[in-house]
Amino acid sequence: MTATVTLRAPLSGKVLPLSQVPDPVFAGGMMGQGLAIEPLSSTLLAPCDGVISQLSSTGHAVALRAANGAELLLHIGIDTVKLGGQGFAPRVQAGDRVSCGQPLVDIDIDSVAQRAPSLITVLVVTNSDDMQLGAAASGMVQAGSSALLDISASGTAAEGDSVAGGVSHNGQAVVAHEGGLHARPAALLQHTARRFTSRIEIGFGGKHASARSVVAIMGLGVGEGDTVSVHAFGADAEAALAAMLAAVQTRSEAGHAAAAVPQTTLAARSDGKLGGVCAAPGLAVGTLLLLAEQDRAVPERGAGVEAELTALHGALAQVRRDIEADIALAGQRGARAEGEIFGAHLALLDDPELTLAAERFIVDGRSAAHAYRSAIRVQSEVLLGLGNALLAERVADLKDLERRVLDVLLGSDNSAPQLPAQAIVVADDLTPSQLTRLPRAQVAGLVLARGGATNHVAILARALGIPALVACGPAALQLPAGAEAVLDAGEGWLDAQPDAANLALARQQIAGHEARRQALREQSAGRALTRDGVHIEVAANVVNAAETRDAVLHGADGVGLLRTEFLFTERTDAPSSEEQRAACQAVLDALEDRPAIIRTLDAGGDKDVPYLPLPAEDNPALGLRGIRTSLAVPEVLDAQLTALLQLKPLSRLRILLPMVTDVADLLLVRQRIEVLAAQLGLSERPQLGVMIEVPSAALLAAQLAEHADFLSIGTNDLTQYTLAMDRCHPALAARQDALHPAVLRLIALTVHGARQHGRWVGVCGALASDPLATAALVGLGVTELSVSPALVPEIKDRVRQLDAAACQELALTLQAQRSAAEVRALLTAAANVAAH
Ligand code: PEP
Ligand code: MG
Repeated sequence: MTATVTLRAPLSGKVLPLSQVPDPVFAGGMMGQGLAIEPLSSTLLAPCDGVISQLSSTGHAVALRAANGAELLLHIGIDTVKLGGQGFAPRVQAGDRVSCGQPLVDIDIDSVAQRAPSLITVLVVTNSDDMQLGAAASGMVQAGSSALLDISASGTAAEGDSVAGGVSHNGQAVVAHEGGLHARPAALLQHTARRFTSRIEIGFGGKHASARSVVAIMGLGVGEGDTVSVHAFGADAEAALAAMLAAVQTRSEAGHAAAAVPQTTLAARSDGKLGGVCAAPGLAVGTLLLLAEQDRAVPERGAGVEAELTALHGALAQVRRDIEADIALAGQRGARAEGEIFGAHLALLDDPELTLAAERFIVDGRSAAHAYRSAIRVQSEVLLGLGNALLAERVADLKDLERRVLDVLLGSDNSAPQLPAQAIVVADDLTPSQLTRLPRAQVAGLVLARGGATNHVAILARALGIPALVACGPAALQLPAGAEAVLDAGEGWLDAQPDAANLALARQQIAGHEARRQALREQSAGRALTRDGVHIEVAANVVNAAETRDAVLHGADGVGLLRTEFLFTERTDAPSSEEQRAACQAVLDALEDRPAIIRTLDAGGDKDVPYLPLPAEDNPALGLRGIRTSLAVPEVLDAQLTALLQLKPLSRLRILLPMVTDVADLLLVRQRIEVLAAQLGLSERPQLGVMIEVPSAALLAAQLAEHADFLSIGTNDLTQYTLAMDRCHPALAARQDALHPAVLRLIALTVHGARQHGRWVGVCGALASDPLATAALVGLGVTELSVSPALVPEIKDRVRQLDAAACQELALTLQAQRSAAEVRALLTAAANVAAH
């Protein structure tokens, strides 16, 4: 096989870099790397020996496969497909073997020049990712004789096995994604495209985008119900096309809470109040605090291309780690919407188009910060210009990335701004990460000049329960800072000059809501008994001592799940045993005399601990995860068990093992505990429980219960593995419902197995925090619920309204339903009956 092929000029004329081609698809390198020629001759010649793999029916484009596997595309003129073949006379056919310099197409230069926007002819290597390209010639070249470019096979593409392979598959599909191809569906398509080696493009409205680029896909401006074309070129093109068409046609929802967006129309107000669109309903009285956009100086000139490229890539890597940490924290708090939003940010950050655009600016002499900001702004302009409100709202996400990257490059005070006790925060716009960094306890409300009810900040405000008004216009920024205002987001207004009566009325209403919350909180300290006297322990899911104190204040009966991953992430080596002991002892101390369930490290799967010496996983969710990881790194497990065994008093400690498959995992850990406890001279042993997170554990619950002191059901993973749906998959989020009857049946089996050995069963997955699910879980025989600290009062209140015997009947009916939606409908109906 010929490793290096030297291309000869196919036309006489001036060589131009691709970036000067007046077509963004070529100029942006989407079709591959190459060069262009401003032609002076009128016959296109073969630039090397090879086989014609494609000839367009209009004769304006020829594809040729070189002997070393390089796939060349020669495209004569710009937008010449529209000429319908006029002006082009092909002299070869697809499948012909040609030699270098052989005429391929005769061009009627005058005719084409008059009717096409440009004669510039492009030569691109469509599989340039798999080839090495030398430096291109510059200046004037002579057709058939001047050397243009050397192309070497990089070793991955063998003859007859080229990545592009010359195979092309095309299809069309109607976009089913709600709101069209905005950030999350685009990220989904990118995810699909990355599974294939073929080059994949999506076409719409005469434009093409690489399917590997989220920003390019968004830049097409595709709406819901639009038809797009999909082109796949390469060895696995057929499979790639099928997968892409399926991904285009598989509906995903526009936003987690989008369906719940309150509909408020923005009408000009005559009552002196500021009008806006309700993004999250609620009433607030607070001090207006104007958050000014940080106007930072960004140096335009860089300190050299190499230095700036290094700085850019370093910053991108740092921001990737920051976003991953935010996703992990959101996951630990059960904040699904937040996790998904930052997941979409990660896809944008990884976008090759954005990075390439920034790199180009750096090559032009700009600083990394200036280059990245320019790349983001160009893309934002594209999105704003598409006339699609949903896509325009994604500009805030790009801005969030810009802010994060510039913070790393230029340094910034990342500390949260100082807020008064009850602040109504007013800003031009906020990015999702800016909102999550505000001290939640001090934010009474949010008012934004821009934004929309479906942008990510609005989704977060709803998830966080912050009343929010968006799209208020520039008048928002003229509000008197420091004034006391009333915000009624549900009604769509903010009153910056409330009279005494209105202020009093608003305060009274807020006090009424607060009194109810307070009443629930006060009763929360007591035990939660159902009406027929069944005790349900309501504990809290926490990650540290501070959250534990908060949980106790909310009336938690204990900690039902301490995820110890927080001790292991965001660092470069494992914490010492002593460090772990101190952190866990702080949690136990914060609980006074209450018990704590502390889970051993649940690394792997969606929880990455990069410094652990573990192999890369093809399929992380099904690889080394949870207790499997700990058993694979025994020194890490021993350090953790040693730390836990030194806690005082051991009578309040319950150790929990994640991702147990069967009793073998449990027995191995029990043995280790025996050995370590003997070494420490302990006479007492803590309780040891297992998580039921996979169907095998639920099916074998009786065997596990024989050797475990308790079972705790992780409904997040149990749902993932029962439904075979990735818990992080954005398109499947709406179907990831733990109230699925299949999951309920596994919970029933778990309780049945546990009872055979007199063990109790708890639920620590997010389902326990869903008040609608309480009746189902109590009915299934679960006696411990571990929930978000703030929800302890509400869940205890739910338990007290229930009759356990009636719930048992209900649970049988629920298990017979066909879908989670049917289960939810029945539970809603039952709750309504109980309320009347
Ligand atoms: C679960 O899977 O339900 C669970 C509580 O564990 P995590 O969410 O940490 O995987
Ligand atoms: Mg889990």
